Amino acid sequence: MRCCCGCKKKENESVSEVKDAGKVKIVVLLGPPGAGKGTIAQYLLDNYEVVHFSTGNLLRNEVKNDTGLGREVSAQVGSGGLVSDDIINRVVESNLAKTLEGDSVVLLDGYPRSVDQAKFLDRLDSGCLKDTIRIIEIDVGSEVVVARLSGRKVCSKCGATFGYLDVITECSRCGGVIVKRADDEEAVLMRRWQEYENTTMPVFEYYGSRLLEINGDASPDEVARNVSDVFRGFGVKKRR
Ligand code: ADP
Repeated sequence: MRCCCGCKKKENESVSEVKDAGKVKIVVLLGPPGAGKGTIAQYLLDNYEVVHFSTGNLLRNEVKNDTGLGREVSAQVGSGGLVSDDIINRVVESNLAKTLEGDSVVLLDGYPRSVDQAKFLDRLDSGCLKDTIRIIEIDVGSEVVVARLSGRKVCSKCGATFGYLDVITECSRCGGVIVKRADDEEAVLMRRWQEYENTTMPVFEYYGSRLLEINGDASPDEVARNVSDVFRGFGVKKRR
């Protein structure tokens, strides 16, 4: 018999008793704006068999394509405020299932950002996914965040992010035009940080011992090495 999460399950057997029920399917990357989530995600995508699922990219695409949802969320996406839990949970529910269909591990970037969202994720697929979720916290100091965020640039075509030290006008990945991100303007940084403190920090408490912490203040190479160690520990396959 197949469980709702696709694992083999005998009659009267609970999900936690199933041999591969806990096999990693989703890795959540948590950290403040400017923690380097985008860079880490790109490193993992280049090196491991993972599929990127970024709620920020999803919403920015909706805004760019001027869809009904895009018009509904454009004010928040542009101002650094959070989209309501109800909307983002619906977006995740309707898009995550098809991302989970293949064998690759899904790298969840930008979600959950509130306790309500974290609970929603744990309940998805009738709670079958919960044991397959791993959570990585990228820990960085607020001074580092402010320095990194003022001046962050993004490719208008593929969404790749570049640091304030990158003096480029053309994306090194796809040749797209580099622009300053609308939600990185000085005026919204404070608001983003406050949202993070008030709404997202309680998520760490919710996850408690499920969290795996990585030092995000370290050099990019060191962060990459640490995150690689964690991924090997999860048993995620390396790309050939
Ligand atoms: P960051 O700059 O932190 O990487 P993202 O690219 O993940 O931001 O998201 C961009 C915007 O999309 C956010 O400022 C917010 O308006 C919206 N958004 C993305 N994910 C969520 C979420 N989980 N909950 C609420 N709003 C979200």
